[in-house]
Amino acid sequence: MNTSAQLDRAHVWHPFTQMRDWLRSEPVVIASGKGAVLRDVNGREYLDANASIWTNLHGHRHPKINAAITRQLRKIAHSSALGLANEPASLLAHKLITVANQGWSSAFRPPEKRRKSERQLAKVFFSDDGSTALEVALKLAYEFTRRTRGAKSKPRFLSLAGAYHGDTIGAVSLGHVDLYHKAYGGMLFPTDKVMAPYCYRCPFNRAKPERGDARDYRKCGWECVGQVARRFSVQKKKSNPYAAFVVEPVIQGAAGMIAQPVGWLRQVTDLVRSHGALLIADEVMTGFGRTGVAAATSGKRSEDVLFATHHENVQPDFLCVAKGLTGGYLPMAATLTTQAVFDAFLGKYEEFKTFFHGHSFTGNQLGAAASLASLELLQTEKSLRQRGQLQSNLQAALASLWNLPQVGDIRQAGLVAGIELVKDWRTREPFALRDRAGIRVCEAMARHGVLTRPVGNVIVLIPPYCTTKTQVHKMVEALTQGIGEVFGNKKAPV
Ligand SMILES: *Cc1c(COP(=O)(O)O)cnc(C)c1O
Repeated sequence: MNTSAQLDRAHVWHPFTQMRDWLRSEPVVIASGKGAVLRDVNGREYLDANASIWTNLHGHRHPKINAAITRQLRKIAHSSALGLANEPASLLAHKLITVANQGWSSAFRPPEKRRKSERQLAKVFFSDDGSTALEVALKLAYEFTRRTRGAKSKPRFLSLAGAYHGDTIGAVSLGHVDLYHKAYGGMLFPTDKVMAPYCYRCPFNRAKPERGDARDYRKCGWECVGQVARRFSVQKKKSNPYAAFVVEPVIQGAAGMIAQPVGWLRQVTDLVRSHGALLIADEVMTGFGRTGVAAATSGKRSEDVLFATHHENVQPDFLCVAKGLTGGYLPMAATLTTQAVFDAFLGKYEEFKTFFHGHSFTGNQLGAAASLASLELLQTEKSLRQRGQLQSNLQAALASLWNLPQVGDIRQAGLVAGIELVKDWRTREPFALRDRAGIRVCEAMARHGVLTRPVGNVIVLIPPYCTTKTQVHKMVEALTQGIGEVFGNKKAPV
């Protein structure tokens, strides 16, 4: 066995991994990468079908991002943001605010009712990962609410069933993944949850299963929006209206790649606003173009939509980004917010209105340099074209999967897709978690040279933006073969 593999097995404890299973086999040790390809220490190549856990945007070892990091490295790697500013972080804050406001104000659906200036994002708080980006939003929303509604108020948060917002205690409290709540329940603070718009498994959806995305053939009366409305009304009657609604816009990731029907986010946002609550958008996975370029309508060319909220012309009060911020090269995160939130923390020193929060690596220069290069790449015509192509290539390739009886639902939101495996598509009967259906299919895909990780029984395809048509087909072909091998499909008639 390779030395790194031996040392790993001796000492490394892997995240979200049953280590007894891990120790049963020899791990793949990644040595290098280029574009959408990862190469292990034995020279074997794999396609990075989940963009290294949803982080990578432009591919590995991109010359522009590598050069930006190297250039910054010749100046300095890190100096503290406590008491000091630095060049790349200041510029990055400016660029982030610019793209976040531009994308929203140039959106093509009817504009928000509120005055534009109130909805502008103005300030950036840097941190290190998605979880901390959410912790920052949470603490800011909490304190902002106490300062505007009175120090006696008890700010309460509402989020979606199945929501995942990270693994620190505040982020787990905001989320609603039952497994984690079972494990850490005693350490968490209470939050409320409301049904997510999960059309495929929605109790209000009266449509019989079809061979198509459940969002497209659903039969319902938007009961999921009604449930949010009810939640807000009930909470208002308790004389403690919600402080904030927290949401992964357009598609919930770790919940199982649950894509929302068009119009849901808009309707829910209107509810949130009408109750005077804040909107916290967790775009840790969806940010930076992941949810796709907007469909070219009425002969207009594709529009670049870098944030999921902008697909529905929604501007949140908090925009949390991480994973793809640096192009997936370095750990860095940011929480963008409004002038109003910022102003609530201003005061005389001895009033102690300061935002008491920070991390050693806040505003790190290497991360900021990589992020600037990544943003620059995203704003090129080439990237827009590339993303448009990947979106349609993915859509075309995924269509072949409807031939497999174990494919229940295929949910694509731009450049990310979840394929939900079931025992039989006609009944939607789910596999038990202990059957490890998703894990086994992904293990089979790895044997065919394609790496990804499932969430439960949902197979995730979230390729880097540089992924070619041939590579997309190879990913879907490996999935087809993987499903065939695991479930012993002979020929798979519909
Ligand atoms: C990954 C993720 C997080 C947590 O980010 P980390 O960088 O892993 O802490 C939070 N929210 C969403 C939607 C995510 O996908």
